[in-house]
Amino acid sequence: MPNHENVHFRPIVGIDLGTTNSAVAHIHNGKPEMILSPKGERIIPSVVLIDLKNNVIVGEDARSALVAMPDRSVSAIKRKMGLNEPVSIAGQALLPQEVSALILQELKSYVDAIYGEGEKEAVITVPAYFTDEQRRATKQAGELAGFVVERIINEPTAAALAFGLEHTDEDRLFLVYDLGGGTFDVSVVEMMSGLLEVRASTGNHRLGGEDFDWKLVDFLSEKIVEESDIDPRNDIRATALLKEEAEKIKMRLSKDFVVPVELPLVTVKDNEPVGISTEITREQFVGLIDGLLLETMESVSSVLKDAQISPADIEEVLLVGGSTRIPRVRELIQDMFAKSPRTDVNPDEAVALGAAVQAGLKSGALSDSGLVATDVAPFSMGISVLKEWMGLTKRPGGFAPIIPRNTTIPVTRTEKLGTSAPGQTEVAIEIFQGEHEWVKYNHRLGEFLLSGIPANFDKQEEIDVTFRYNLNGILEVSAKCVSTGKEMSVIVQDGLQRDSQKAFQESVQRLEDLWKNADQDLDDEELIDADWEEMEDLLDDTELDEFDIDNEQAPSVLHEEAVQLRERAVKMMAELDADGQSKARQVINSLDQAIAGDDLEHLRNVIDEATDALIDLEL
Ligand code: AMP
Repeated sequence: MPNHENVHFRPIVGIDLGTTNSAVAHIHNGKPEMILSPKGERIIPSVVLIDLKNNVIVGEDARSALVAMPDRSVSAIKRKMGLNEPVSIAGQALLPQEVSALILQELKSYVDAIYGEGEKEAVITVPAYFTDEQRRATKQAGELAGFVVERIINEPTAAALAFGLEHTDEDRLFLVYDLGGGTFDVSVVEMMSGLLEVRASTGNHRLGGEDFDWKLVDFLSEKIVEESDIDPRNDIRATALLKEEAEKIKMRLSKDFVVPVELPLVTVKDNEPVGISTEITREQFVGLIDGLLLETMESVSSVLKDAQISPADIEEVLLVGGSTRIPRVRELIQDMFAKSPRTDVNPDEAVALGAAVQAGLKSGALSDSGLVATDVAPFSMGISVLKEWMGLTKRPGGFAPIIPRNTTIPVTRTEKLGTSAPGQTEVAIEIFQGEHEWVKYNHRLGEFLLSGIPANFDKQEEIDVTFRYNLNGILEVSAKCVSTGKEMSVIVQDGLQRDSQKAFQESVQRLEDLWKNADQDLDDEELIDADWEEMEDLLDDTELDEFDIDNEQAPSVLHEEAVQLRERAVKMMAELDADGQSKARQVINSLDQAIAGDDLEHLRNVIDEATDALIDLEL
């Protein structure tokens, strides 16, 4: 293990913040490696407990207490990320990102044990289908835990990175099949001349190993109903016990063909213990879960269709997520692709290891690898327009995608629109994310009004609408009246960031209070009232104005983008001839000047020019 004296770059780690389990990894001796907990665990359950002394406990001990202290523990918080709904834990109201921050703080303590206390950078992964809100909540969780969140990347991209390092010379297509505890994600990833690109991605964030556990709980419960005429699922503790046993049985069935089940006490009937003594075969288990597994294979077909390829085009299938240890999963993959999937990276660790690879690319620890990672937009993003309906009339509410799903990012796209009525002087730009042709079925990201359009009764006024989507999944939308040059824009993250500054500080305070309260016995009732009232006020405030819209650009986002471009230009220098190097140097100089100045309009133009110049140099 390194200590921070002999590390020549800033500590930056990769984190898999999972629904069921979480893990952290770093680059050590040029290779991604897991960072272990003090107990030697490579992954920890994503479970938080506030014990009877108000100590915050995260991981295996918290998971063990789930049954005994359901009101004091929270699991699977990832499913709630991005929702403005507090969860209750030990009588306290915490937002999902605050609970996730507690998990990340635990992981940070393992990192601190190696590198020393203080700020650390992190790359954190999310499922490909996470919305902007979910990505922002994840970033915020990282910040609350004391990380500088360098980048949020898609889990399949991270997984491909974990498998990809040794294969930079060959061009190939991979399929990443990721079946974890609570999510399923499948992606086609292309490796071309060291450039790693996600071509297409889809998934189901409500499907995973937990569902298989519940199928087994139902199977065992029905046996108990048959034999003892009592349904253990009506008893919360019995259900929790069966769920825990079900997971153990499931895991054993990945190795054995038959597993005995001996549970003398599941519940109580007429003051008598009720239990179960039976066995379950792998075939029976497959019968219970096959419908769900076939659903995942339908997603596989659909992602191949999205990427416009057939199974034969896939060189390798990479298995990620603990549930891919189930032999039936491997069988189904083998049947579809006529080849065995690759299992040489531990499926529980691949995402964290890949995030560490991304972190290493960022820090320079892997600058010799020749690998560059790009990503895709997980949803189509566009605006509301008038749309022909049944070939008859034009109706409002049609969806016009400007950045289609699976477009490689970062990306800037402009669409030309026209005013729809004679003399029209303003246009409402409503921004949506989703795949449906009508916006009401998609997810609304925001709206702004471009006013001051000259009243034109002779012809349409032209409006350019530009979408810019960066590697952190942050969207900037601007609209410009072509005849006057007047422009307005909104940055989705920035609007929320400024609105939520107060909320962020409140979160920091709540987490500090949690630690302060440790080892004290508090009056739970008082806490409940105070916290819920405060939370309600806070949520009311946050909803008031979701977007702060003006002509000003958000400095943070533009600067971040400029700095990323500068880094890319610096990295490219080594590969370029003298002429190319001189061009790259010019790009770096103009970026430096624009970053140092305070003319944001100029900065944006320089970013556009630099992007074009670097793309030309890369080709
Ligand atoms: P992950 O989210 O990748 O950490 O995966 C966790 C899920 O994998 C949980 O639902 C585990 O029960 C499941 N899992 C772990 N090991 C096995 C195994 N040997 N067989 C079947 N499922 C497993």
